Formats: sequence, structure tokens, C-alpha cells
Amino acid sequence: MWLFIRRALQVIGLCGVVALGGLVWRQSIDNSFIEACVFGMMALTAIAVVAGFGDGGSGAIALMPVEQGADSVVRVAEQRFAADIALVVKLLQSHLTANTNYSETLTRANADLPQLRSTEEIRTVVLTLIDENRKVQAKIDELSKSLDESVNKFEKLRSNLAEANDKAMRDALTGLGNRRFFDQELSMALEDDPVVCLMMCDLDNFKAINDKFGHAVGDMVLKQFADILNAAARRDDLAARLGGEEFAMVMPSVSPVDAGRVADHIRRQLEAKKWMLGGSVALGKVTASFGVARRRSGETAADFFKRADAALYRAKSDGRNRVVLDLDA
Ligand code: GH3
Ligand code: MG
Ligand code: MG
Repeated sequence: MWLFIRRALQVIGLCGVVALGGLVWRQSIDNSFIEACVFGMMALTAIAVVAGFGDGGSGAIALMPVEQGADSVVRVAEQRFAADIALVVKLLQSHLTANTNYSETLTRANADLPQLRSTEEIRTVVLTLIDENRKVQAKIDELSKSLDESVNKFEKLRSNLAEANDKAMRDALTGLGNRRFFDQELSMALEDDPVVCLMMCDLDNFKAINDKFGHAVGDMVLKQFADILNAAARRDDLAARLGGEEFAMVMPSVSPVDAGRVADHIRRQLEAKKWMLGGSVALGKVTASFGVARRRSGETAADFFKRADAALYRAKSDGRNRVVLDLDA
């Protein structure tokens, strides 16, 4: 829509320049006052061109893809967007009308000028042109102000949508990416990089921690495990909480053995952690199990995920608190 408005201004401006250029060329105007006025009008028309060719980038609003959680924000944004566009279109229409009147007055002046004899008659025509010009200028000013206001509103809207989008992708408890984020990042990693490993992990006997110490303590354990995971992630790794006490890490450009080493480092850090409640009561050892797989050539995200999950399942059935590598690549 912004682009359309900009293009319309460009066309109006260019038509004005061409029409005025033709007028000056066809009339051999020797009265320097009239000449000055006509050139003044050309300058104003050029303003319309400049407005049209102005920073198109700031107007081109690239709305971000928005997830379900942000539905209401999107609805409000759509309503505001529609109201704003309607206002700009109305202003543009009235600008076009003013421009048409101006153009007609110019054509009439073009036809009348050769017949005019007295300075007074010429003055009247010029004053009419100046008056029409003022109206066009006022419309341009109004339109330009409205465009600036709309750009500010759209910028605000864009930042609200980015915020809503971020919330829809983040797990509120741990601050890690959520399942939606994970799915998105995994498919992107598979597109970008032929060598990707996936680490799945699940806290061991977590239900017992909840049952024994309460849900709030369980939450605290989840948060601190997320911190350990995050700290161990390399620059391109992406850690996410898939749900409950299950986490994953997408690890591009790494061998399965190195990915396994990272998993084991996380496992040992968790196992070694001293959990205290209120400075005295020990929580006991908290452990987690890990499954690591490397993506096979051409393998879908779903099949890759299943293999890493199967490795995690083996780690659980082999006795927990361990890392199982799927080396069948
Ligand atoms: P396993 O070693 O086989 O994984 O056993 P587990 O007890 O860890 O697994 P189980 O699936 O039996 O229990 C998972 C528990 O995690 C049950 C559920 O109440 C708890 N849980 C899920 N989400 C949250 C959460 O956000 N906060 C807390 N505190 N507990 C959660
Ligand atoms: Mg568990
Ligand atoms: Mg589980």
C-alpha cells in the first residue's frame, strides 16, 4: 500500500513536470514575472516527485509471521492498519482532486495567456495559478504529515508484533525456545547445513522431585537445568524446552562424537550440582538422560527427531543418567 501511494505521487509529480515543461516550451513567455511563477510551480511539482521518490524503504512494512499466541495482537493491528490506510487513501484522493483542478487551471491559463493584453489581466491569471498552487501545496503538506504519522504508527505496530512473536516462541519458565521455536529452527538448520546433530534430554525421575519437594522446587530445577544447557551450547547451537522436563539442542556442523561429549559434559554438571533448599535441606542428586543422533543424508526432520528420541529412550531403559549415541549414520 505504501508503495502504491509513493508510486502515485511519483506519477503525479512526473506528469506535472512534463506538463509544465511543455507549457514553458510552447509559450515563448517573455514576461519574467510569469516565467518566475511558472518555474515556481515546477518547483512545487518537483516536491511531489521528491515526496514520491522519498525513502520508500521506511514505508515498506514487512510484517513478521505471527504465531497463534499473538492472535489478539494481530487482530488489533489489522484494525488499526485498515483505519490508517483508509485515512491515507482519503487524503490521497483529495490530493488528486486538488492536483486535477490545478492542472485544469494551468491548461486554461495556457490557452488564455496569448490573448491577454493588459498587465491586470495577466496578474489575475497568475494570482489564480498561485492560489491553486497553494491549495496543492497545502494538500501535499497534509498528506506528508499523515504519512509520517502513519509510518510512526506502523513502526510501533511492527515492534509490538515482533514482541508477540517472540513470546509465542519462548518458554515462559526457562526463557529457552519452545517446541514451536525448536521445530522451526530444526527445519532451518536442516536446510542450511548437511551436518547437523540433535541432542534430546529428559530429567530422570522428575516426578519424584515434584512429589517430594513440591511443584515450585520442580520449576526451580527446570530453570537451573535450562541454564546449564544454555551455558554448554556453542554459538550456533539452539537449546529448547520441548515440554515438561524434556529438552533438546540442535547442533549444526558437529560430529556425533563431539555432540556426545557436549551432552556428557551437561550430564556431569547436572549430576555434580549441589541442590540446597533454604540453605540447609539437600535435594539429593538430580540426573538426566540423553540421546544424540546425526542426521542422515536426505532424512526428514520428523525421522531425524524419532531417531534421537529413540536414543534417549535407550538411555532411559539402560538405567538413566547416561548418553546414548545413535551411530547408525
Ligand atoms: P523418567 O525418568 O522416566 O523420565 O521419569 P519422570 O518422573 O521424569 O517422568 P514422568 O513423565 O513420569 O514425569 C514427568 C513429570 O514432570 C510429571 C509432571 O508433573 C512434571 N512436569 C511437567 N511439566 C512441569 C513443569 O512445568 N513444572 C514442574 N514442576 N513439573 C512439571
Ligand atoms: Mg523424565
Ligand atoms: Mg519426560
